[in-house]
Amino acid sequence: MLISLTVPCYNEEEALPFLYEALCKVMGDCPQYDYELILVNDGSTDKTLSVMKDMAAKDDRIHYISFSRNFGKEAAMYAGLAAAKGDWVGLLDADMQDPPSLLPEMFQTLESGEADIVATRRVSRKGEPPIRSFFARRFYHLINRHTDVEIVDGARDFRVMTRPVVDAILKMPECQRFSKGIFAWVGFRTKWLEYENIERIAGETKWSFWKLFLYAIEGIVSFTTAPLKIATYVGLLTSFGAFVYLLYYFIHAIINRIWDKVAGYPSLLSFMLFLGGMILMALGIIGEYLAKTYLEVKSRPLYIIAEENKKDD
Ligand code: UDP
Ligand code: MG
Repeated sequence: MLISLTVPCYNEEEALPFLYEALCKVMGDCPQYDYELILVNDGSTDKTLSVMKDMAAKDDRIHYISFSRNFGKEAAMYAGLAAAKGDWVGLLDADMQDPPSLLPEMFQTLESGEADIVATRRVSRKGEPPIRSFFARRFYHLINRHTDVEIVDGARDFRVMTRPVVDAILKMPECQRFSKGIFAWVGFRTKWLEYENIERIAGETKWSFWKLFLYAIEGIVSFTTAPLKIATYVGLLTSFGAFVYLLYYFIHAIINRIWDKVAGYPSLLSFMLFLGGMILMALGIIGEYLAKTYLEVKSRPLYIIAEENKKDD
């Protein structure tokens, strides 16, 4: 049984040695499994690549892949999954926020055959700014109301999957990737393990609030077309509103015998502005989907590999 452990790394020179040590220890305690470690350098600007190379020189279980620039965690995870040769494949972050000590329990669950995926979720958001937690909750609420797959609040990318699951994920080569959705979409039996949030061991998070916001929009647009319906509903509602107002105004004019054309000017203007705003919003939503379609149609590769060891075996 071969297990591949895949780690996306972006500026993780400080964290990598800790992770490596922890993984060696955990895997040393599970001698029944062979393992390979796939380290994906996602265009780091620090010494991450040379740290990886040093490790690979000493340990031939390490396969490093280095991108030509930063392509994002989603692309790095895909590259790791594509390179993995294992019967089981694990995904974890480099910063020890995904505790390697959970791995043996995850392996046991797969061994017992009760699940095809052992995934993890954080039960607390300790150490996270409250505003970030608030928006994260709203996001999960929103996306789950409008998609047929359930995206679990607090789900991490930290998981171990069997080969059929990995193959299913690799069959989804869309370039606008939203892994949480993709993992949910492929299905299979998933067992969830829960753990408390752990702060990263070294270095700093690459997720600014703005980046997270864009990621959330990405998630919504990738997994539901519900926002497109907003335009239809809002359009219907405003037309109905306009009709009711017209009727009211007509009756009002007849009763009070006012036929002055100028009297309607302010309401006319505000209606026009309101409708203009609605139309622009609808166009924006359509544009968002069109842009995504455009990017997919180009079907560019998800990432470019500048160098790697073990390319041919
Ligand atoms: N990461 C990556 N490419 C990026 C950003 C992040 O490969 O563009 C990796 C990063 O090295 C880490 C994991 O993705 O292993 C999670 O990133 P981070 O810890 O910054 O996110 P957080 O845990 O704060 O959500
Ligand atoms: Mg982290």
